[in-house]
Amino acid sequence: MSNPDVIVIGSGFGGSVPAARLAEAGFKVIVLERGPWRDTVPVRSMGIDKRAPLPRGAQLFTKLLRGVGGNRVPGNRIALSKHGLFELFLGKGATIACSSGVGGGSHVYSAVNIRPLAPNFWEGHAPGISDGAMSEHYDAVLERMGSTTPMADHRIPNTSAVRWKGSDAIEPALPPPDPRIGYLLPDDPDKPQKVVDEFGIERWEVDYKANEDGFLGSPTGSKATLDAVYLGPAMKRAGLIVRDMAEVVRIMRQGDGARYRVEFVDHHTGDRTSLTANHVIVAAGTINTLRILLKSRADGGLAGMPQLGKRFGTNGDYFAYWDYNDPNVEQSVGLPTTGGVRLKGDMESPMIGGGGLPAVDKYPLPRFIRNRMKKAYMIAGLGEDKLCGEVTLVKGKLKIEYDPDQSPIFAKLKGIFAEISKRTGHKIYGPKTPITVHPIGGACLGESAATGVIDANGEVFDNPGLYVTDGSALPRSPGGPPSMTIGAWADHVAASFIARHRPQ
Ligand SMILES: Cc1cc2nc3c(=O)[nH]c(=O)nc-3n(C[C@H](O)[C@H](O)[C@H](O)COP(=O)(O)OP(=O)(O)OC[C@H]3O[C@@H](n4cnc5c(N)ncnc54)[C@H](O)[C@@H]3O)c2cc1C
Repeated sequence: MSNPDVIVIGSGFGGSVPAARLAEAGFKVIVLERGPWRDTVPVRSMGIDKRAPLPRGAQLFTKLLRGVGGNRVPGNRIALSKHGLFELFLGKGATIACSSGVGGGSHVYSAVNIRPLAPNFWEGHAPGISDGAMSEHYDAVLERMGSTTPMADHRIPNTSAVRWKGSDAIEPALPPPDPRIGYLLPDDPDKPQKVVDEFGIERWEVDYKANEDGFLGSPTGSKATLDAVYLGPAMKRAGLIVRDMAEVVRIMRQGDGARYRVEFVDHHTGDRTSLTANHVIVAAGTINTLRILLKSRADGGLAGMPQLGKRFGTNGDYFAYWDYNDPNVEQSVGLPTTGGVRLKGDMESPMIGGGGLPAVDKYPLPRFIRNRMKKAYMIAGLGEDKLCGEVTLVKGKLKIEYDPDQSPIFAKLKGIFAEISKRTGHKIYGPKTPITVHPIGGACLGESAATGVIDANGEVFDNPGLYVTDGSALPRSPGGPPSMTIGAWADHVAASFIARHRPQ
């Protein structure tokens, strides 16, 4: 295989967006993704032979976790299954969940597609970057994801607007500006239809009753996953190459030929191998991107980056279990997120939402436990945090240090959850260490190497031709679900790359 123009590491929002855009602009692009293709309707219709099952039935536990890592884990990293859907990091002050597989976090996310809730999010970080300049990139990502504004006509069951109507304690929260979701919503909820795109990629409209397509992946493709909407079309029309089960270990700058050598383990064969290119986009998800960059620097492959690992945060996430157990409500029907809620009249409330557990009937558990689980409700709040954490590599071991007490959002959410428990009489159980599914920062956008790791083009100061496009690049916590912001940043980096290096 000849050298590509660009190697993209990781295939989540930060990876799939520039990989597809650059391939479609005529560059030779290879994506290296450590996880497998998932066994879903769209991936089958793309003709991909080697697919790994989503965690369901007997495979629920064997395919759930890829591994557990971080400073609270003996030995720093325990590998469980190369086909596992989630990876957990137990850091000091934060537990972090991320995912693995072609398409990254789009398989497991709830598909809430919104712009930052933090006001003036893009202002003041680097020359040329502003809310106005970034707007077209949000539009581009929202359009390609097919994100839809949910309306009454869609007849989505179990929404908070219906659920909390008449409650004395809580009420549905006003939706944020331009709220959208990344699902194919059915014209007729009783008869979901199959939809086929111009490349023959198949997806089904969502079946609210089955609630199959939530946190454990979307077998029917009703959730817009990046493999189906970005990678598949770019493979078909532009020759994008995606190598699954290819786990990058480090990036080494070299003197001869192409600028960078990217070393990876091919989990299909077990071999350690490498590819070279002049341009490398790192988008392995916040923690894994930081791990790769820190290791590459420690091994002498990359230079400088004095701010690397600094200004790491959690987007203020606080996940908890609400023991609502209402005999009349089956939570596990509808979409994974049922919409926002707030304490009655609390106009200053941060974003709080939640939903039931997906695909409960597919769990290998006795019926009475499944029935109880169908009443379970996961509640989560989020808001801007202070990005006060740091990720470092000490003697080859990843150390994540975060102090939630420095960000007032956590005390605020705990207070609100206590009040909801009191007013409804149904207790909310939250963990002592906050769990986040939105790790942010550590390779932040800045004006110079003294204030950030990457510049306004996404290029790493001190390491020309190396770019960061995932959650680690964000210079601030968006305070709401971040995937559209990550996608918009990645789209911006791709557009500026195309403008500067347009293929001849
Ligand atoms: C349960 C859950 C619900 C969520 N709900 C929402 C929501 O509703 N809305 C929203 O906006 N966000 C949501 N999120 C967050 C969203 O999924 C993430 O913010 C987003 O996926 C991050 O994008 P990313 O590109 O930074 O990383 P990821 O999407 O995590 O992609 C990183 C990719 O890199 C791969 N990788 C890692 N290490 C290596 C390596 N060494 N070599 C090669 N590949 C590697 C990983 O396998 C992964 O595929 C949710 C997340 C979870 C877990």
